[in-house]
Amino acid sequence: MDSIKSCYLKEFNAEITNIEDDLIELDQTLFYPIGGGQDWDQGILKINNKEINVLEVKGRETITHLVESNHNLEMGQKIQGSIDWERRYAHMKMHTAQHLISAVVYDLFDGVRTVGNQIRHDRSRIDFNPISFDEEMLTELVTETNERIKRGAELQVKTMSRDEINEIMPPERTNMDLVPPHVENLRVVVIGDNLDLCPCAGTHIQNISEIGEIEFLGKKSKGKGTQRFSYTLK
Ligand SMILES: [Zn+2]
Repeated sequence: MDSIKSCYLKEFNAEITNIEDDLIELDQTLFYPIGGGQDWDQGILKINNKEINVLEVKGRETITHLVESNHNLEMGQKIQGSIDWERRYAHMKMHTAQHLISAVVYDLFDGVRTVGNQIRHDRSRIDFNPISFDEEMLTELVTETNERIKRGAELQVKTMSRDEINEIMPPERTNMDLVPPHVENLRVVVIGDNLDLCPCAGTHIQNISEIGEIEFLGKKSKGKGTQRFSYTLK
C-alpha cells in the first residue's frame, strides 16, 4: 500500500496470470496478504455475474488468492476484485490502535518494547517486554490511549532512511535495531507530528479518531518478562 488513502480502495480490475488448483495469481491486487502480524483480506472475484469467494491471501513478492473449489476460472480472464470492507476496515482500525497502544506503553512505562503482535478483526494482542501490568497500569494505559484517540491525529506513510528514523525515534521503539543492516530505506507510518513513527507494511486508517475506543480484554504472561495485552474496539 503506497498511501493511507489507497487503504480505502475496495474494488479493482485485474487479469488472471496464474492458476494452480485453487490458488489464483493476478496482475494486480488490493487484497492484503497475511503478514506483519495482520490477518489477510477476504472478499470476492467477480466474472460474468459469477462471484467466487477469496478465502485466504498469502505471499509478498507473489500474492496468491485461495478461492473456493470448482471456481472454473481460466488464465487470462479479466476479473473484478472486491474486498470484504467490514473485515478490512476492522483490521485498519485494530492495526492503527496497535501503533498507538505501543507508543503509549513506551511513553508511560519507561521505554517498554513491543516484541510481537497479532491483528485480527475481532480481537488483537500485543506482546510487551519487560513489563508486569497491574490494575493501575492497565487503567492508565487504556485511559491515556482513549484520550489520545479522542484528540485525534492524522496518519501519514513516508519512505525514510535508517538515519532519519533513528534521529526521530529511539531504536527500541521502532525495532530498527532488528532491521537487517543492508536495508537502507523503509516505509514508515507516522502518527500526527511524530507522536509515533514505526516501520510497517500493514493497512491503517487516516486519523486515529476513527478507532473509537479500545477495550482491555486480558493479559497473559509469556515468560522472560514478556506480557501479552489483548484488546478489542468499541
Ligand atoms: Zn502498522
